Amino acid sequence: MKLGQFEFLKYVFRSKRQVYLDHNATTSVSRRVRHTMNRILKYHYGNPSSLYKIAGRSAGLIEQARHRVADAIHADPLEVCFTGCATESNNAVLKSLSTYFLPKKKKIISSPIEHHSVINTLEYLKTQGITVEYCPLDRWGRVLLPELEKQLDEDTFLLCCVLANNETGVIQDIAAITGMAHQHDVLVLADCVQALGKIPVDVHEWGIDYASFSAHKLHGPKGVGALYVKQGSPFTALLHGGHQESGMRAGTESVHNIAGFGAACKDVGRLLARSNRIRALKNDMVQRLKAIKPDCMVNSPQADEESLPNTLSITFNGIENTELMAALNYRGIAVSAGSACTTGDNKPSHVLKAIGLSDEAARETIRISLGCGTSAQDIRYTARVVQDHLEGQRPLLVNRIAPAQLDETILFDDRTYILDIRSPGERRKSKSLPNSHEVNPFKLKKYLHQLPKDKHIIVVCPGGGHSFIIAYYLKSQGFKNVSDVRGGLESWKILRSDLYRKYAGQNITAV
Ligand code: PLP
Repeated sequence: MKLGQFEFLKYVFRSKRQVYLDHNATTSVSRRVRHTMNRILKYHYGNPSSLYKIAGRSAGLIEQARHRVADAIHADPLEVCFTGCATESNNAVLKSLSTYFLPKKKKIISSPIEHHSVINTLEYLKTQGITVEYCPLDRWGRVLLPELEKQLDEDTFLLCCVLANNETGVIQDIAAITGMAHQHDVLVLADCVQALGKIPVDVHEWGIDYASFSAHKLHGPKGVGALYVKQGSPFTALLHGGHQESGMRAGTESVHNIAGFGAACKDVGRLLARSNRIRALKNDMVQRLKAIKPDCMVNSPQADEESLPNTLSITFNGIENTELMAALNYRGIAVSAGSACTTGDNKPSHVLKAIGLSDEAARETIRISLGCGTSAQDIRYTARVVQDHLEGQRPLLVNRIAPAQLDETILFDDRTYILDIRSPGERRKSKSLPNSHEVNPFKLKKYLHQLPKDKHIIVVCPGGGHSFIIAYYLKSQGFKNVSDVRGGLESWKILRSDLYRKYAGQNITAV
């Protein structure tokens, strides 16, 4: 794919100023990491499993990285295995232990605010005979220990608990949880992805049995994760093949990525030293937003030891998050609605629902996640843009059509032009609105001159998030009458199932 295809994004970001407040989605690759990786890509191409000198150098680099990761999490290097991502680490533990314990023990207990890499794997495991129980939480998403204790029984073999949640930043008392689980002979998997680099992580002190990590959350590269397996804990590989990673994970190691992860871990101390400054900036943001909208609701715990220093989940009553995000995006500010993995989805966040928010409130919530590079000016600027939006100073007004309103009179009107910006994968899941023009959003710029300026353009995507951003872009390009469908095609499909059954997929033009 050529870079030029993404050029239209430049026009979506009208503001020259860029403020990145989505560090829980991913972080930039630090200079030290880039430098390490470039050097390895250039010189150290040997296959670590081969027996000559340049191969030995690659193997040495992997071992050095293993020591660095182990140091950062307070583990023994023998207990660290490199994987392709934290999603793989979580899958490997859940699937490996299910195979190991079935049919003797069948139950996994999990917190309901796990990342999708756990939740969706548990859903799969249910189809394989595993019983899954979710433990109750308090208002802030902290596991209720007395309730948890009642759930731990003879049938339970594993407890999964995210150490720090990616959406609200709530931190669990993992040592207490692990202590309780061990009393019942239950193993513990802690997803530590968001914690590493933000709060101290000590897997030995906490006694946890398995832990997952991901390099790209702490200024390392994407595509490399780590799995901690406490010595002596049961584990069988997810991927079979060569004998790499002591038989725990087959496949030629991604040497540059692994070394990049090691380099990122070397900086963990430096990252932790900045957490007080980041927390002060977050608190400043809360104060400013509360001054702008006193009824806004903070979903991240207030106590320092209970929440990540950088993460703020906040609900603005009556303000849809897609609209606010598009307005922020237009002024160069990146925030997200929930986890990056669910963007474009119409479902309200399972995390926010688990801590008691209604569907509506969940759709009015944004996540702001700060990083080392965030400045006091960034906070002031973001608060000002939120204020502008709330005060109705919206530079480009995009009309939002409620899905229930989208009926024959609009769909079959000669003046309507439906622009379907779903990806090919999403198109396979649901049929399109009738009379749609399917376009790859990354090629939109090329196609722009073919769009009718005199028609009412309705942009549609699965969940109503991406369509709003594209509608904003079209407005900025001089298209006067642009709308998107609130809640996207999936909402229309549910609310107008009669029309979906009758017309969906008819008369589609692929552009
Ligand atoms: N667990 C948590 C808490 C996360 O936030 C993420 C990523 O957002 C993951 C797991 C998955 O990490 P990866 O992107 O390495 O698969």
